Amino acid sequence: MLNYEDARTLVFQHVKPLENCSLPLTESQGLALSEDISASQEMPSFDNSGVDGYAVQAADLAEASPGNPVRLENLGYISAGESGKEKMRSGLCIQIATGAPLPAGANTVVMKEHIEVEGSHVRFSQSIPEKENVRFKGEDIKAGNTIIHAGTVIGPAQMAVLATFGYSQVPVHRVPKVSIVSTGSELVDVVGQPKKGQIRESNRFMLAGMVKQESCEMLTISMVPDHPQVLKEAFEEALQADVALISGGMSVGDKDFAKPLLRELGVEEIFWKIKFKPGKPLFFGRREKTWIFGLPGNPASSYVLFEEFVRPALRKMMGRRILEESLIKAVLDKPITQTFNRLHFMRGIMREENGEFRVRPLKFQGSHSIGSLVGSNALIRVEADSPDLPAGSKVSVRPLKNEIT
Ligand code: AMP
Ligand code: MG
Repeated sequence: MLNYEDARTLVFQHVKPLENCSLPLTESQGLALSEDISASQEMPSFDNSGVDGYAVQAADLAEASPGNPVRLENLGYISAGESGKEKMRSGLCIQIATGAPLPAGANTVVMKEHIEVEGSHVRFSQSIPEKENVRFKGEDIKAGNTIIHAGTVIGPAQMAVLATFGYSQVPVHRVPKVSIVSTGSELVDVVGQPKKGQIRESNRFMLAGMVKQESCEMLTISMVPDHPQVLKEAFEEALQADVALISGGMSVGDKDFAKPLLRELGVEEIFWKIKFKPGKPLFFGRREKTWIFGLPGNPASSYVLFEEFVRPALRKMMGRRILEESLIKAVLDKPITQTFNRLHFMRGIMREENGEFRVRPLKFQGSHSIGSLVGSNALIRVEADSPDLPAGSKVSVRPLKNEIT
């Protein structure tokens, strides 16, 4: 059986970034840039005022003090958006707005709060160095510099930069289209009333939610009973996507039809079963350009395997540089006394205390545990055949995007 590292390596070797495309800026959030973005001009693009105030020549105010104020004639007002073609010279000042161009001849700006207006003149009672309250051309970004690297996911900060440089269309990677098939004759839709032996289906919602966190596109979502013909049709439909997530039916039960049916549909197995807990029967395969992840039906297994395999694979297909949250070191609050011959990612609760992360595993680690999903915000990595870990040990932890109470 493959270990976790080898299985992940296989996934990352197989899946490749999808094609590039161009999308309107307003639709680009959450996608990864397919090209480096370099500054087409310097920023700021012109010298401008950083405050609402008065542009002056610093030398005019060299002797200014409360006991010896200097009066300068006010030339007018340059508001933001004006060209600032006014010419300043000694003896003059001009009122200026934040972001308005610094007029030629001025070399510093006095804040409005520090002056008194006297009719057509302005009284200054403090001296001021040159270059105060001025935002200089090129001080933030130099023209030609790469400012966002390809593979960076576009968030609000990147959108500000893209807008600044005129990218109404943004070069990105296409996102994967994902489909989900939940299998199981015991499953009832959320609006249904489970009879004895039945449960409400939850993996579709959970997995679709995780796909949405990555801004990928949902193609089809279905829930089907364990009947080969119905399953086959649902699988064929799901295989039209870039990534098909099959939930349940992947193990060795008499009604676990997924594997043979996928084979009949032309899916080539890359691996099945890994030395991992929770979620040993993970399946990974391909049919032409479609990648298939077979996830166990147990919700916690599905959740953890999505975090460790599917999420980074989706990110790789999206062209993202950062495939996952890095593991961080945390101090164990409670001992871990039961270990297995498989790597175990335990659901746990992490918090920060006095500048360090502390973590404790949940008591109940059942792979069917729905409670553990809302009760954990971290996965604690416990090696296969690890000795018991006493409280105080340092462990590797994968933080989860999950708010817990
Ligand atoms: P399976 O992987 O099909 O053997 O299912 C393992 C366990 O997960 C069983 O207890 C199922 O009832 C449960 N299960 C399977 N699919 C789902 C689902 N979509 N939502 C919630 N529980 C499920
Ligand atoms: Mg099943």
